[in-house]
Amino acid sequence: MTFNLSKRSRARLVGVHPDLVAIVERAIQITGVDFMVTEGLRSVTRQKELFAAKATRTMNSRHLTGHAVDVAAMVAGEVRWDWPLYPRIAQAFKQAALERGTPIIWGGDWKSLKDGPHFELDRKAYP
Ligand SMILES: [Zn+2]
Repeated sequence: MTFNLSKRSRARLVGVHPDLVAIVERAIQITGVDFMVTEGLRSVTRQKELFAAKATRTMNSRHLTGHAVDVAAMVAGEVRWDWPLYPRIAQAFKQAALERGTPIIWGGDWKSLKDGPHFELDRKAYP
């Protein structure tokens, strides 16, 4: 089974760093779980709204600079938030990142408040 990025997913990659876009485009080719892009570049206004709602802990988000994307797992055309799907998507992202030599961070690897849908370019290489 191979998957493709939808038009909506592609539209949400506008303004995202090209190295991260390349990883998303490769990940969709090799993933065992379909996914859509739910968010890429985020405005300060939206970040403030999310912060106020406690949906994010930071005003220093990588989304503000186009260094992060969020995805949602899709099963049979439906968005699913079941945790086991996300390490499988992350596997595809990590494989794509390895192939390109682009260091990325998966939010699911964070020690506190894991963020399974979130991927970002490593600050060490992409300040
Ligand atoms: Zn995110």
